[in-house]
Amino acid sequence: MRFIIERLFQFLLPPQCHCCEKFLDEGEQGICSDCLSEIRWIEPPFCSVCGTPFISGEVRSHPCGSCLTKRKYFTMARALGAYEGSLKEAIHRWKYQGKTTLTPFFVKWMVEGLYRYWDPNLFDLLVPVPLHIQRLRERGFNQALLLVKELSHRTGIPYQKRVLQKVRPTIPQVNLSGVERAKGVRGSFHMIGKEELEGKSILLVDDVYTTGATVNECSKVLLAGGAERVDVLTLAHALKNY
Ligand SMILES: [Zn+2]
Ligand SMILES: [Zn+2]
Repeated sequence: MRFIIERLFQFLLPPQCHCCEKFLDEGEQGICSDCLSEIRWIEPPFCSVCGTPFISGEVRSHPCGSCLTKRKYFTMARALGAYEGSLKEAIHRWKYQGKTTLTPFFVKWMVEGLYRYWDPNLFDLLVPVPLHIQRLRERGFNQALLLVKELSHRTGIPYQKRVLQKVRPTIPQVNLSGVERAKGVRGSFHMIGKEELEGKSILLVDDVYTTGATVNECSKVLLAGGAERVDVLTLAHALKNY
């Protein structure tokens, strides 16, 4: 009965913003214009390797200090928006409250990013950053796989979900430095089924780029497994001092 009443209300009331739950105005879809206008889209100039935006005084994109001193295994990482404000809120609701209806909105932006930064014909395969089985059981889904499936559907680039496996859980990384994170993820990903990757260009997909330690470790494993090139696309990029 409660379910029927809820459905009836959903039918009668205007749809709500997936992010702040405000009722949407006519013409608004999924996310309200206030939440959308709050998103800080990442624009050049940024690091030509990891995609971290430069704070000030830079006119051209070039490799940042971190990418010059420490090797990145991926060729290019790009993200759509800064991981803050309404985008962070939307990602949290999507990931931790199971608001998977947000997936098509996120992927629409990711498709735009894919076409902006790469020639999509470059890629043979989309690969999601895997979750450890324990985390997967808690959450019920791998958010990176949700993005990959929809991205594959919209671009026609095939995806492979069983390429990488997370063999041990990572300790929560929130308060760790880049170096500590890199140490924390070392050896935590393994390949499953090597032969399929020989000579392939892979687009690795995740929801948030934080220090890059996770995607860098995954890229290293993919290259060691025979991939020719790995690039990274994430929905958001966590920024420091920006
Ligand atoms: Zn809103
Ligand atoms: Zn960089």
